[in-house]
Amino acid sequence: MLEFDLIQKYFSRHKQNKNHQNIKLNIGDDCAVLDLRQFQNGENLAVSVDTFTENTHFLLTDDPFDIAWKALAVNLSDLAACAAEPYWFSLAIALPENLAKNSQWLQNFSDGLFACADKFNIALIGGDTTKSEKLSITINVVGKTHKELFLTRKAAQIKDDIWISGQVGLANLGLKLKLQKSQNGNANIETLLSPIWQKLCLKKLHQPTPRLELSKLLAEQKIATSCIDISDGLWCDLSHIAEQSKVLAELNLHLLPIQPLPLVVEKNILKALDKNQQNLLRRSMLQSLLSGGDDYELCFTANADEITRLKISEIAAKLDLPLHRIGEIKAPKENNLVCLIDAEGNDISSEVELNFYQHFSK
Ligand code: ADP
Ligand code: MG
Repeated sequence: MLEFDLIQKYFSRHKQNKNHQNIKLNIGDDCAVLDLRQFQNGENLAVSVDTFTENTHFLLTDDPFDIAWKALAVNLSDLAACAAEPYWFSLAIALPENLAKNSQWLQNFSDGLFACADKFNIALIGGDTTKSEKLSITINVVGKTHKELFLTRKAAQIKDDIWISGQVGLANLGLKLKLQKSQNGNANIETLLSPIWQKLCLKKLHQPTPRLELSKLLAEQKIATSCIDISDGLWCDLSHIAEQSKVLAELNLHLLPIQPLPLVVEKNILKALDKNQQNLLRRSMLQSLLSGGDDYELCFTANADEITRLKISEIAAKLDLPLHRIGEIKAPKENNLVCLIDAEGNDISSEVELNFYQHFSK
């Protein structure tokens, strides 16, 4: 199939969503031309780009629907972290020859892309299509923020509460499941999870939900002092807030929302586990929560007063999304950015084996 036919068939046809009405020149021309009249005085453009590559971010054996969904969702998550409203995106795709000829693959990819685009109201306005040895997807998103009410990493205040949305760590458990990685010599400990939880973890890994509504409310109501989306792992991403805000982020072990084992493990399997195996499973879940990536939940800081906490619980109820208070912002201490304390206040950071997945770390 010719490049132009491919673009026409899989990327330019599509039902319109609300952000199509501001496109003056669309796919098929040399540029997209966008009408900004709807932007009010002082509103800002928010722009972000992410590249998604074979074997680093996904496997070629993954469902193409999921690959496309996630490639767009992770970009939307960056908009969410800043409390920006999505408008438009472009897509640069480098395709191996065999995929460019595989209409089933392309159709599923296109379906996943537009399912995500329609769900979060963002319009595809152009892109680039090339051949390449490896599949690579670069998405560039454009959104809008309020004049001043957008969120950053740099304004966490000492004594603020630290919060996270949703079930952080499940995507990493999903990844462990997928890779059937063995933990501490115990093979496939994650496969002890009940089938329902396994499905949930894999869904979180493959089809993350950008928390756009949450950050919008947090910004509008001036609740969050800082915010970041959790892509590389809670510890790692929270350390960016700490660094840029020049503070220490102190996590509290007993506040961390680890799923209780009876909830996630089948009853008869749980009965058969000895204490040691139960501890291993708990530790594995804790480690996923602290250092596993791919959740695309939000981590934010907010004033610790009762009114703010109440407002946050109201938002959680409104969105039907759990929001967990997990620690406190402290004055900077030596070179520490993030630490973990137990119920007695002892620093137990060193007891947690953290295996962050950082690009270029090797
Ligand atoms: P040019 O050579 O002028 O850069 P291209 O041949 O790359 O134009 O693209 C033709 C048109 O198709 C452009 O409007 C471009 O934005 C659009 N396009 C190309 N690839 C994609 C894609 N993967 N998704 C959406 N639009 C695309
Ligand atoms: Mg081009």
